[in-house]
Amino acid sequence: MSDSQGDCIFCKIAAGEMGTTFVAESEHVVAFDDISPQAPCHVLVVPKVHVESVHQLDSQEVWAEMLTVVQQVAEAKGVVEGGYRIVSNAGPDSGQEVPHLHIHVIGGSKLGRIA
Ligand code: AMP
Ligand code: ZN
Repeated sequence: MSDSQGDCIFCKIAAGEMGTTFVAESEHVVAFDDISPQAPCHVLVVPKVHVESVHQLDSQEVWAEMLTVVQQVAEAKGVVEGGYRIVSNAGPDSGQEVPHLHIHVIGGSKLGRIA
C-alpha cells in the first residue's frame, strides 16, 4: 500500500486536489458521484490510500470504514428503502477501468440482475 500514486485520478480526487464535492467522507475514505452515472444514484466509495482493488486492501479498519460510508451514502441519496447494489470490479476480467479500489453504490431505479 502506498499513500498515493502520482498519476492516479482517484488519489487526486481523494486528496481534494480536484475540488470534488464529497457525498460522504471519513478519516480514510471518501465518496463522490460517478462521472458517468448508470442510475439516479451512482456513487463511488474510495479509500484515501492507493490500493489497486479489493484484493490488495489488507486493513480491517479501512474495510469497515468503506462499508460504513456505503451506508452513509445510501442514506444521503435516499435509496435505503428502495434498495441499492454495491459492486467492486477487480482485475481485467471484471472490466475494471480505474486501478484504485472503489465500491460502486448504485440505486434509485429498478436494476437488472447481474448475479
Ligand atoms: P470501474 O470500471 O469499476 O473501474 O469503474 C470506474 C468508474 O469510475 C466508472 O464508472 C467511471 O465512470 C468512473 N470515473 C472515471 N473517472 C472519474 C472521475 N474523474 N470522477 C468520477 N468518476 C469517474
Ligand atoms: Zn490511487
